[in-house]
Amino acid sequence: MDKATKEKAKEKLSKMAYLVGYPGKFRTYEFAVDNKNWAATALAARAFDFNYKMAKVGKPVDRERWGMSPPTVNAYYRGTLNHMVFPAGILQPPFFDVKAHVPVNLGAMGMVVGHELTHGFDDKGSKFDGQGNLQNWWTDTVRKQFTDRTDCMVKQYGSYEVLPGVKQDGKLTLGENIADNAGVMLAFQAYRSLRKDAPELLEAGGFNEDQQFFLSVGQVWCTVMTDDYARLRAGTDTHSHPRFRVNGSLSNFPAFAEAFQCKVGSPMRRADACTVW
Ligand SMILES: [Zn+2]
Repeated sequence: MDKATKEKAKEKLSKMAYLVGYPGKFRTYEFAVDNKNWAATALAARAFDFNYKMAKVGKPVDRERWGMSPPTVNAYYRGTLNHMVFPAGILQPPFFDVKAHVPVNLGAMGMVVGHELTHGFDDKGSKFDGQGNLQNWWTDTVRKQFTDRTDCMVKQYGSYEVLPGVKQDGKLTLGENIADNAGVMLAFQAYRSLRKDAPELLEAGGFNEDQQFFLSVGQVWCTVMTDDYARLRAGTDTHSHPRFRVNGSLSNFPAFAEAFQCKVGSPMRRADACTVW
């Protein structure tokens, strides 16, 4: 980024809101539930939700409105509101544990926070200002440099095979892959900075703190799915297969290679590593 765009990015960051746990105001659902008539209940729910949305037309934007319920194990960034939301559901193991060591929490929940934050500054985030209004704050030069760098990631992820003969779509998943790569980097910097004055570094199960961080990144994306589901997601999901969310971003990241002494060109240390941020 050039200097002027960097200033705009900092201004946007200063206006970004962090909503954590649960909303200040809980949403209520006032419609009749008929235990004997599913269709009537479904129609009543739809009518209620339609009126709820219509009532917002012409009113000021509700900046505190959540798009996820508190027990949801997920998180999001919304460009039109310039806020990140981390429901209580994701703030539990394996993502976060008050009893877990700093590198473990940062490799897991920290990576998610870094991921969401980055969405405010990617190709989509560049189109919304600090207030969430549709306003491009990137220059043409910045956008060109960004695209040049992202082409590397389109190729990298497009070469991954989810199942024999089923490739990951490098373009479809680009935004999420950028966020995964930057999320790992931001979380790693945050973990190192939190531990920089630590009187003693802690080993766990023979793993040093850097290794604990990276194991934690891998741990949160442990997933079991059927081949059919993996195939469906490869064609529709903007997120890469969990295996590549981990291996894709860590094989680009020099600190990972150092932590596990991976040789240049080995599967987890790409010779032509991609960096966007
Ligand atoms: Zn994302």
